[in-house]
Amino acid sequence: MKHATQSKVEVSVVIPVYNNSSSLEELTMRLIATLSSISRSYEIIYVNDGSRDSSLSLLRKLATTSPAIKVLSLSKNYGQHPAICAGFEHSTGEYTVLMDADLQDAPEGIETLLAKLKSSGADIVYSVKNSAEKKFTSRLTSAAYHFIFSKIVNTKVPLNIGTFRIFNRKFLEAMLRFEESNILYGPLMFYMGFTSAYVELPFLERQHGKSSYTFTKRLKLAVNSLVSYTDIPHKASIWFGFSLLFASLLYGVLVLLQYLVFGSSLPSGSTLILLVLCLTLGSVMLSLGIIGSYVFRVYQEVLRRPRYLVQERINVPTTPAEAAHV
Ligand code: UDP
Ligand code: MG
Repeated sequence: MKHATQSKVEVSVVIPVYNNSSSLEELTMRLIATLSSISRSYEIIYVNDGSRDSSLSLLRKLATTSPAIKVLSLSKNYGQHPAICAGFEHSTGEYTVLMDADLQDAPEGIETLLAKLKSSGADIVYSVKNSAEKKFTSRLTSAAYHFIFSKIVNTKVPLNIGTFRIFNRKFLEAMLRFEESNILYGPLMFYMGFTSAYVELPFLERQHGKSSYTFTKRLKLAVNSLVSYTDIPHKASIWFGFSLLFASLLYGVLVLLQYLVFGSSLPSGSTLILLVLCLTLGSVMLSLGIIGSYVFRVYQEVLRRPRYLVQERINVPTTPAEAAHV
């Protein structure tokens, strides 16, 4: 791993790419214009996450125009977070910027992010989108996400927090020490602590293509964060089990009192039995499911599979860690 003193690159921009052919050219042009005016030197690391459109051939073409444009093409579609991981592991800059490839964040915002990082002395600067998400389902899942975030970090995370962010080498190197297979950078970066600052940046409506995240994909991400980063699910099942036990005990005592004190007959009827049976069985199944999801995660971590495999690299040398594996 390179150290800040050795790195010649000042700003590295990490961008996961999944079917973003319509925005790549404009994004690159605008990035180069911004970066060349605000930094001594820069690199743009595109991580092609198994795109099915012409993104890769476009990236190959763009990479021939400048050695600062680097391309890592993964062997298949691994998902946004493993793709980001590949980019981070190859970032050599003093500062690293993370952004999406769809031009919803204006690349010119890097100037504001960098200035804030330098002036505030923070280790990481997050962007806050200044316009709210329009789609109801997106708002719903983002609200669910925020609930989880605040549980993890025990502080109020601003609503509308964006992917667009910048951090220093110290933060990056600390982040690279997290080796979990099921890595999620959103919650992780907050979980890590360090000093942070926020800047408000414009967030544009999507101009090209459509979001690669569907409602179910987003929901999965929220559930994944909930299970991976909090103890809410299994605590909830414990409390539910307790409440059920307590309620049934209370009911038993009531029935017994009625029988002994008031002489009323014991309740009969299969409906009641069925209801109680369903309730208890349901809660047992729920708890089993929760345990199962943890067991599944433990299994995945035990396998220690590589988080991504690189199929093609352009203008990117292998990292010392990768070289050790060859
Ligand atoms: N992305 C990726 N792999 C995926 C899905 C998305 O690398 O399987 C990238 C995508 O190219 C983009 C970023 O993740 O740069 C965010 O995706 P998108 O813009 O579709 O999500 P949204 O902005 O709607 O949350
Ligand atoms: Mg986007």
